Amino acid sequence: MRLYDAHNHLHSAELRFCLPEAFAALDREGVARMVVNGTCESDWPQVVELARKHPQIIPSFGLHPWRVVDRSVDWLEKFERCLASVPSAVGEIGLDRWIPGGDPDVQESVFVPQLRMAAERDLPVSIHCLKAWGRLLEVLQQNPLPRCGFLLHSYGGSREMIEPLARLGAYFSFPGYFAWERKGRQREVFRHVPTERLLIETDAPDQLLPPELAEYSLEDPNSGKALNHPANLGAVYRFVARLIEKPVDLLASQVEQNFNRLFGRF
Ligand SMILES: [Zn+2]
Repeated sequence: MRLYDAHNHLHSAELRFCLPEAFAALDREGVARMVVNGTCESDWPQVVELARKHPQIIPSFGLHPWRVVDRSVDWLEKFERCLASVPSAVGEIGLDRWIPGGDPDVQESVFVPQLRMAAERDLPVSIHCLKAWGRLLEVLQQNPLPRCGFLLHSYGGSREMIEPLARLGAYFSFPGYFAWERKGRQREVFRHVPTERLLIETDAPDQLLPPELAEYSLEDPNSGKALNHPANLGAVYRFVARLIEKPVDLLASQVEQNFNRLFGRF
């Protein structure tokens, strides 16, 4: 079985201490490809560096809505240079009305130009959205979009929005975090995602799995903070297979086709 992580942050400084071990575990688990998402100007070079060393990585660059306050005046030129420097996707970008103090207008003024550049270059985009689903749909309807499609990572919108979003080209990725007991609404929504638009992600080192599901545990050696190990991808596949009542090997081959439709050119 070949596995595909639609969204992680393997370049994160939090994972640096365990990267050789993590890559060995990813090989053991059969992780064929993964999209590694930069979130701010200062981490884009680390994404490039890691992708150069590990061909299974698809580099992706974006200015995340949580990081818009740190942007420099020439962030958009830097972003464009990154896209030109290496074959890459766009993300993580998006809209977030959950984070305290986030300015929706500033977020949108950063999101839209990145979306437009992805559309001009026909690059797949990974989108983060929290509590801004109505506005996100409007923005997606009002702007040019990449023909190849886009990913709604950790999709937490409603069941009713799946269809209009899918019509615009959306894929929907399920994180292990939705296996927690309290995430019943999100799990139910995923039972209605069209199978040809379903993807799976770890979002590692974020979005911990419930302890009874995590097959790999990881702890920051300095702070003791629990981290999500990227090799938990297999555990997420097995959870989703049970959720949608499908044998895991069938799920894996469907996800492989979906992943390659969206990200296969890299
Ligand atoms: Zn992420």
